[in-house]
Amino acid sequence: MTDDTFRRLNTTFESGRTRPLAWRRAQLDALRRMMRERGDDLAEAVHADLGKPVAETTLTELDLIAAEARFVRDRMGSWARRRPVAMPWALQPALGWTVAEPKGVVLVIAPWNYPVLLSLGPMADALAAGNAVCLKPSELAPRTSALLARLVPRYLDPDAVAVVEGGAKETGALLARPFDHVFYTGGERVGRIVMAAAAKHPTPVTLELGGKSPCFVDGTCDLGVAARRIAWGRFTNAGQTCVAPDYVLATPDVAEALAERIGVAVREFYGEDPRRSPDYGRIVNGRHVDRLCGLLPVRAASGDGASGPRGTHVLRRDLREPLVKAASAIGAVIDMAGRRLSRGAVVPAGDGPGSGTADGIVAVPGVADPAGRVVCGGVVDREARYVAPTVLFGTSPDAPVMREEIFGPILPVLVVRDADEAIRFVNARPRPLAAYVFSRDRATRLAFERRTSSGALGFGLPLGHLMSARLPFGGVGASGIGAYHGKSGFNAFSHVKTVTVKPSHPDTLRLVYPPFDAMTRRV
Ligand code: NAD
Repeated sequence: MTDDTFRRLNTTFESGRTRPLAWRRAQLDALRRMMRERGDDLAEAVHADLGKPVAETTLTELDLIAAEARFVRDRMGSWARRRPVAMPWALQPALGWTVAEPKGVVLVIAPWNYPVLLSLGPMADALAAGNAVCLKPSELAPRTSALLARLVPRYLDPDAVAVVEGGAKETGALLARPFDHVFYTGGERVGRIVMAAAAKHPTPVTLELGGKSPCFVDGTCDLGVAARRIAWGRFTNAGQTCVAPDYVLATPDVAEALAERIGVAVREFYGEDPRRSPDYGRIVNGRHVDRLCGLLPVRAASGDGASGPRGTHVLRRDLREPLVKAASAIGAVIDMAGRRLSRGAVVPAGDGPGSGTADGIVAVPGVADPAGRVVCGGVVDREARYVAPTVLFGTSPDAPVMREEIFGPILPVLVVRDADEAIRFVNARPRPLAAYVFSRDRATRLAFERRTSSGALGFGLPLGHLMSARLPFGGVGASGIGAYHGKSGFNAFSHVKTVTVKPSHPDTLRLVYPPFDAMTRRV
């Protein structure tokens, strides 16, 4: 960001131009017009960046931005009004009120996974609160970032908004400037960097972070419905959703059946080969494919013999069958040179979901792997940035897949004795962005509500809370600081100022002026 751009935003804000409700309304209307007129282009850009289906972008990004803009537009007048407050008797006669004022020039730093929603959603709230806004989209969604840089100043007041493109270096340079608020969405590691940089000014921050969102399932729920909803929550956007169910804790009576039913739901949604489904997305880049590969309990990879990421071994297609056979015979996974690789035995060729896979891919499930057994999926094609919707069963709490936020289409199902053990499991870990419970038992639901802490809690409903502008959206503890959407968003970008008025006469304050007499001391 040049000095000129920063100065321009500040000059515009100082001039008072962004404060009138009419200006705010015009910006929010323009944002909705942008969704109508350029929605297709934005969805195409997201498709180019993430392989996300166009219909999914419309549903989970564009429509939500339009709804948010409309919601705050219609209510911001009331939120911005003075709120009278009763004053203590000792100060009477006096009046008091609070009034929300814009913070000033704010910075919105967005991630790549919902690159339009998480850029323009916070921006809508910031504009409703009367701020000038600098947006920094994610460099990992470059087409979307470039399109936003073109469209935003064209639709919105170009003196009051700016889009700065770039990655860590450019964001670092932005954070060196004294913004009046920083709104960051992304991972926890960078969240700490943002907060430390903001502390220098100090600038208040909203941190919308991630984490491992648990999902508890017991035998009282409708298993088919639970399986479908969990599959939808996990595999939308190929699992790259901050509030997706990250892992399932299920009671022994239903755990294995649930894992199988989630596999059935996957086939219902995406067909036998999700790679061919127009409704299934891709992983953002090769680095994340490699990271996800390392979380799988399989030796899987594609291609021509180059070495794969951690936990993977590349097998040439023509060598696949004999190698898998040989591996089965000796009870281990072997590499191209016939070296023994795995810790445990393997499922015989043709007998596991990973063993007879699509072109160029070999995936051999290792049954003794702490990541568990592959119930469905387990197929990876690095070149196509494809990771199949994968369900694991019997995952150990110590497996790598349980040590970090998965942020991809892998769903481990762990077995817990009961709700109590599940609650202890959740409470022993950082507080998540969301927690989900599928149980018809009232006491169980109440126990989760009272004894666990998370940004949000959904009974029978993954993801749903983020779709309502009436509900605050944000994390707690390691999953974030602050909230937005609707009124919470307006508040995040506002300073609530206290105003008091006391007439000069009568000067009742005399009672508290020194020297203190006997009556004051009694008070
Ligand atoms: P990312 O890599 O796109 O980073 C987010 C932003 O930080 C980008 O704009 C990037 O340019 C910037 N950035 C990266 N490194 C930086 C550095 N060293 N200094 C300053 N800025 C830097 O996104 P990500 O972090 O991979 O996003 C995924 C994470 O975000 C997941 O943990 C997910 O759960 C979380 N997330 C949270 C929400 C939410 O609403 N709470 C929404 C989406 C994603």
